[in-house]
Amino acid sequence: MNTNHTICSLCGQFKKLVNSHIIPLSFYRMNPEYTKQKIYSLKGTFPRKSPQGVYDQILCTECEQLFSSGDDYILRFLEKIKKEVKTTGNQSYTVYITFDLSLINYFIASLVFRASASQKQEFQAVNLGKKYESLFKKYLCSEIPFPDVIEYIFMKYDVCNPILMPLRKKIEGCNVYVFHLGKYELCVKIDQKRFSETFKPLTDHQTEFVVMHLKDSESIALKLMNKIADKYKKLRLL
Ligand SMILES: [Zn+2]
Repeated sequence: MNTNHTICSLCGQFKKLVNSHIIPLSFYRMNPEYTKQKIYSLKGTFPRKSPQGVYDQILCTECEQLFSSGDDYILRFLEKIKKEVKTTGNQSYTVYITFDLSLINYFIASLVFRASASQKQEFQAVNLGKKYESLFKKYLCSEIPFPDVIEYIFMKYDVCNPILMPLRKKIEGCNVYVFHLGKYELCVKIDQKRFSETFKPLTDHQTEFVVMHLKDSESIALKLMNKIADKYKKLRLL
């Protein structure tokens, strides 16, 4: 028996599995210091160097290729426009007028699916459960439209923080996964319950795609990272 073959998480076939990045490598490479980049686990375990990010063998070649268009598109899209910035009071936003929503939606679903399918310790917080896993698979195999249990918000920081592993939170009573993607932070709600109208400008991507700007001091990732760094500095390990 060839030990490189096992069951693909998406198509369910017995095939040779390839290395898949759970978070696309491009997000790691945004950080000019990515070669020294460390991974900060939420459990406060020792941060380890990870210039190539975390990958896992969960998909066959064919299924891995399905994800590449969304992965290739997402940063090209987020980074392309510098002009369309709107400001309301102290809050500013990047507003995108032209975008391919189907590719962005596909990226969102594939990111959560990969994190959930991965057995790596860094992604333990993400678990879709049987019901949603089957729903995500159907969408990712183009059998159904983008599931309406998913709503998501992108936020942007001035600096490029290191990648922090995803965490699970309750926001307005809904189940939300927060992905810290360097300069960007992504909140993905997966729940029958919908977010309130307050979030609508950020979650409704039909005509405009709005990315909220946050100050570095508001970054959950940065705060947590500094806390972990302090802890290890004290132990003279960093
Ligand atoms: Zn497959």
